[in-house]
Amino acid sequence: MKYYSTNGKAPMADLQKAVVKGLAEDRGLYMPERINKMPKEFFDHIQEMSFRDIAYNVASAFFGEDVDLDALKELVFDTLPFECPVVKIKENIYTLELFHGPTLAFKDVGARFMARLLRYFTSGTDTNKTGKSNINVLVATSGDTGSAVANGFLGVEGIHVYVLYPKGKVSPIQECQFTTLGKNITAIEVDGVFDDCQALVKNAFMDAELNAHMKLTSANSINVARFLPQAFYYFNAYAQMKKLGLADNLVMCVPSGNFGNICAALFGHEMGLPIKRFIAANNANDIFYQYLQTGKYEPKPSKQTLANAMDVGDPSNFARIYDLYGKSHERITSVISGATYSDDQIRETLKQCYDETGYILDPHGTCGYRALQEGLKAGEIGVFCETAHPAKFKDTVEAIIQTEVPIPDRLAAFMKGEKKSVPMTKDFADFKTYLLQQ
Ligand SMILES: *Cc1c(COP(=O)(O)O)cnc(C)c1O
Repeated sequence: MKYYSTNGKAPMADLQKAVVKGLAEDRGLYMPERINKMPKEFFDHIQEMSFRDIAYNVASAFFGEDVDLDALKELVFDTLPFECPVVKIKENIYTLELFHGPTLAFKDVGARFMARLLRYFTSGTDTNKTGKSNINVLVATSGDTGSAVANGFLGVEGIHVYVLYPKGKVSPIQECQFTTLGKNITAIEVDGVFDDCQALVKNAFMDAELNAHMKLTSANSINVARFLPQAFYYFNAYAQMKKLGLADNLVMCVPSGNFGNICAALFGHEMGLPIKRFIAANNANDIFYQYLQTGKYEPKPSKQTLANAMDVGDPSNFARIYDLYGKSHERITSVISGATYSDDQIRETLKQCYDETGYILDPHGTCGYRALQEGLKAGEIGVFCETAHPAKFKDTVEAIIQTEVPIPDRLAAFMKGEKKSVPMTKDFADFKTYLLQQ
């Protein structure tokens, strides 16, 4: 399979190049030249299949030409040592719980898959006599991405991960999830804000001397190996709804920030997944919502909200969605609608859901729940993604529902580890000197 750039000015790439490079030369995002349809027999029997088997079938359609099938199967099975159950919240509204991975966030699947695919493509291809890593992943984080990427790559041979995070600006739970791991994970505590971390990473990718010294790559959702595997979730959700006999009029609602997760769902739809329509639920960062209303895409600086993993003012995967539907606003609005909610609305809905149903939402999933409550039509069944466990936003959620949110054992375990990080200024010269010594 070849991959083209959404900007149309870079050469086609093979999967290996798309995964190792991340972004095309013209700064566009890689898109597969074809989207293979899944066969009818797959959908006929999907309700009898395990999550892993469903995922392996979907992965084969994307990556089967480029990755040895036995290796791909192992890679997919190793990515998914957990389930993502669908849970009923109330009449016609279900949630797909995507928070059962190691860091309790849906980004675990993409991060784990990407780590293993990168390893597949880089092992044995480079001299490793010095004991140095073949490849170095740089990731800037305001919290969730860093923990998922660090844990996804933990212990993967030949790959070293540097997580850059703003000092004092991530929650204690999140900080523990990437500063206590050791092994091939280094946490770098930057004296600055998230944008400073991102600038350090971007500068590093553009620095010729540094790139001659070490192989660098990124692990955010622009990478095809990180966003595409999220399609597994939607086939799995469909299978579970079909088992319940409720799969005929499905509406899938995805709380969105950079739009990688919903983009993967839309790829699934193009592969033949019978979902009737999609809703992208946003917090107050309403760029996509406004695009749906007006046909104009106007990026803005991001606003801070309670659902902070969706505080994105220029969603990077918009370019993929736009390209997927031939740049047609009409085609996009025929498949996807939007919703946008203020912090007050998030508080109100999170509390209302808890009071009415006993289910504790997190602030991101809350946007999805409300969008279904307001947007479902007669005869439709809605499934929204719960993208993180509420305990990850413990203080916020407890203040809203006035009830303690227990911390799952897996999350508590991180907090027992010893925190280790490298202090860094926001000055690129310092970061470069540090990397050149590695
Ligand atoms: C990353 C994240 C999102 C947004 O996902 P995108 O793929 O960027 O749209 C939503 N909720 C949570 C909890 C996240 O961590």
